[in-house]
Amino acid sequence: MGSQYTFAGQVLDWFVTHGRHDLPWQQNPTPYRVWVSEIMLQQTQVATVIPYYQRFIARFPDVHVLAAAPVDQVLHLWTGLGYYARARNLHKAAQQVRAEHQGHFPNSVEELESLPGIGRSTAGAIAALAMHIRAPILDGNVKRVLTRYFAIAGYPESSAVKSRLWELAESLLPESGIAAYTQAMMDLGATLCTRSQPDCGRCPLADRCQALAADAIATYPGKKPRQNKPVKAVQMIILRNGQGEVLLEKRAETGIWGGLYSLPERPLAKSTGQDEPAAQCITEFNGLSCDLTAAIRLPEVRHSFTHYHLDIFPLLIEAHQTADGAAGAADSDCWLWYPLNHSLEVGLAAPVKKLLSRLAEDPHPISR
Ligand code: SF4
Repeated sequence: MGSQYTFAGQVLDWFVTHGRHDLPWQQNPTPYRVWVSEIMLQQTQVATVIPYYQRFIARFPDVHVLAAAPVDQVLHLWTGLGYYARARNLHKAAQQVRAEHQGHFPNSVEELESLPGIGRSTAGAIAALAMHIRAPILDGNVKRVLTRYFAIAGYPESSAVKSRLWELAESLLPESGIAAYTQAMMDLGATLCTRSQPDCGRCPLADRCQALAADAIATYPGKKPRQNKPVKAVQMIILRNGQGEVLLEKRAETGIWGGLYSLPERPLAKSTGQDEPAAQCITEFNGLSCDLTAAIRLPEVRHSFTHYHLDIFPLLIEAHQTADGAAGAADSDCWLWYPLNHSLEVGLAAPVKKLLSRLAEDPHPISR
């Protein structure tokens, strides 16, 4: 290896002197021991896994002992590692290996993949590391190396990019030395081609790494595309009286802006803001007569929550207190006439604060 450039040749040469050779699961790498390590290593760093692995193997040295153990014992030894579904699946898979394969791990990637908790990459790792089957893996480390080396754009979890990466991973496999190569790819990703600040100066792939050549390492792997959050719309009514006060309503303790003061609102079916203010929404404010014809639409405000955007369509309405219902709505504990020219010590919903300060700055806006 090494005289003629091949991707695998470079990686294998590097592995001899720079790879990790003394991890506990590399000693006596039976399918059982490799499987337990691969499951533990999902989402978890090697250094964290080692003591858990050693305790686990000491207590459950083979698949028969694991299959026969109560699941609570398995979970107990997993305590602190997190992602407990992994431990439950491990236990279930052990029972399946005992029941369906007489305690021997099946020796094909497809059959391994049919066991609970074993995906294609984990199946590939068990097959390659413990059975010397030429099977690719595509864990996070390998995805990082391949997307950078080949400058593969796009999010690696998207189906198009993922299938391209599987094709590449398969095409790069060496004719021999599959176990060393598989471990080497994991090690390369974990120790050199790290998420941030990869050590390209020591990387055996640096000569032909496309991301390095283009000085674009940070571009790969591509980021998860931003989810388009749903958009909800609401109309907020800014009822202003002759003293320049705006009517606020205290919100329920639970839900968004719980317990804060906000503008009276009503839902809008669509994020258009074209819904006309209905008379019934205004009649809620007893004791006030409102000049609806002079309602002014103010520019909308978008407020973003974690799971959705809220487009707020404010409508400014001048309210005139009538002689017979002077106090009106503001009598209730829930209502408050809020002076625009100085702030009261009450909690305001963030976008309401913004709307009110805009109105204080420009008390006579024109309709948009
Ligand atoms: S040269 Fe750098 S970016 Fe490219 S594979 Fe090696 S460590 Fe990763």
